[in-house]
Amino acid sequence: MEDYVRQRHIEEGFEYVGTPHIAKEGLFYTSGHLPYYGEGMFPALDVDEMAYRLKAMNCPMHNLIYRSRQRSYRELPLRLFEFGSVYRHEKSGVVHGLTRVRGFAQDDSHSYVTPEQAPAEIQHLLDFCLSLFRDFGLDDFYLELSTRDESKPDKFIGSDEDWAMATKVLEDVATASGLELVPDPGGAAYYGPKISVQARDAIGRTWQMSTIQYDFNQPSADRFNLEYVAADGSRQQPVMIHSAKFGSIERFIGVLVEHYAGAFPPWLAPVQVQGIPVAERHLDHLHDVARRMRAAGLRVEVDDSDDRMQKKIRNAQLQKVPFMVIAGDDDVSAGAVSFRYRDGHQENGVPIEEAISRVVAAVESRQQV
Ligand code: ZN
Repeated sequence: MEDYVRQRHIEEGFEYVGTPHIAKEGLFYTSGHLPYYGEGMFPALDVDEMAYRLKAMNCPMHNLIYRSRQRSYRELPLRLFEFGSVYRHEKSGVVHGLTRVRGFAQDDSHSYVTPEQAPAEIQHLLDFCLSLFRDFGLDDFYLELSTRDESKPDKFIGSDEDWAMATKVLEDVATASGLELVPDPGGAAYYGPKISVQARDAIGRTWQMSTIQYDFNQPSADRFNLEYVAADGSRQQPVMIHSAKFGSIERFIGVLVEHYAGAFPPWLAPVQVQGIPVAERHLDHLHDVARRMRAAGLRVEVDDSDDRMQKKIRNAQLQKVPFMVIAGDDDVSAGAVSFRYRDGHQENGVPIEEAISRVVAAVESRQQV
């Protein structure tokens, strides 16, 4: 899943980056996460009488990458993507089960654009998120538009004009998508409004997945003071667009476990092929098949336990392994294996090379079997 998500980001024009997990506290004051998001962060660590914080978000670090040298308008949109490990101090009861965690990996990205490029980039990010979900078998969506709470202006930074403009840009893209759009007043981050993608899974539950946030704040002169040199030679401030596609990778795995009821399509299955010998004398043959399958990039296990064959088949069925590969005397002498599929039907005497290419094709097509 990570390989796939990373590759798709690279195809969509993102640079893959990695940033530290801990930073001096001052960085988070520069970004505004302190004090605005202070409750969500772990307390400071004292290191040689300096206050450090575990990162709860990746934007401050990406801003430092942006600011590491002068940027030209020709570089924009500049897109940075990271599987960022973030640490959040969440109150108990806020999240639950697999989703109640102290730290998680966020598939986090930041697009730096000129103000004129912002609508097209938001459109690009929304299309990208939806296409990712479709590859994971989710295709029932609606959008939420989170805006600031007008009664609590001190919780949000920025002028009325900036908020109105940013909200309009997001709303226009969301409306043009044709998806149902639900208002979420007060749900914005302190630095700007956001669109979130809500997906319904196979059992009808709704999950908040992607967020796309418009930020005129962190790039500003009193924060990171980000700039680019415009075509006329003047220095201009970019707009920053935060987006996470799955949000938390761990939580998304939790969603997928339930969405597929454990029966992952081959490309996502932790074990794609389970090797099962009819008797112990067939193990060498199966280990050889497994080695050749692994060389083709497949995830294979051979059940060499003392269980009887029927028990091994039953175990693999309970694990919902997409392909069982069984070997008996006929298979060994013919250089073949027998397939057993999730639906219980069996196919005998498939030559090893053909068996490998069949499983590889099922993985590459990302189809369910
Ligand atoms: Zn961010």
